[in-house]
Amino acid sequence: MIEAPSPNHDSRPDGCVVDTIVLHATVLDSADEVVAHFSNPGSRVASHYTIDRDGTVYRHVQEERRAWHAGQSRMPDGREGVNDFSIGIELVNRNDGLDPYPETQLSALIALIRQIRSRHPIRYIVTHAEIAMPPGRKTDPQGLDMDQVRQELDLR
Ligand SMILES: [Zn+2]
Repeated sequence: MIEAPSPNHDSRPDGCVVDTIVLHATVLDSADEVVAHFSNPGSRVASHYTIDRDGTVYRHVQEERRAWHAGQSRMPDGREGVNDFSIGIELVNRNDGLDPYPETQLSALIALIRQIRSRHPIRYIVTHAEIAMPPGRKTDPQGLDMDQVRQELDLR
């Protein structure tokens, strides 16, 4: 785990239970570019983690803090402001639907989520595309096989 701290976070609401993981694709083509973007206070955006194609995990924001990754968002159960109760994970990928997610990257993702589940009662794993408001605002992580991810984690 490489520490790559970002200033782009604030407090979660009092008594908030983290029960959701949001998956993203970076669009940016390299972890270096992602680290630079998230380290910049002007970007006003960061996820908790980024996973590079080779499986290297970067931590930008501590899990107890609210990272600014989902923007305007709504869960299928109607809850809004998904940043409040979620952990955001970015996968380095161009998000063009063609760029593959290597096996090393996916196994690092599964391992990271298993660790997170040992700390938080995670019940949902969603894509940014599924929760972004208004619908259609985001497409990431395009090309990621969510059936496979959910099946490996026994989540819906
Ligand atoms: Zn996203």
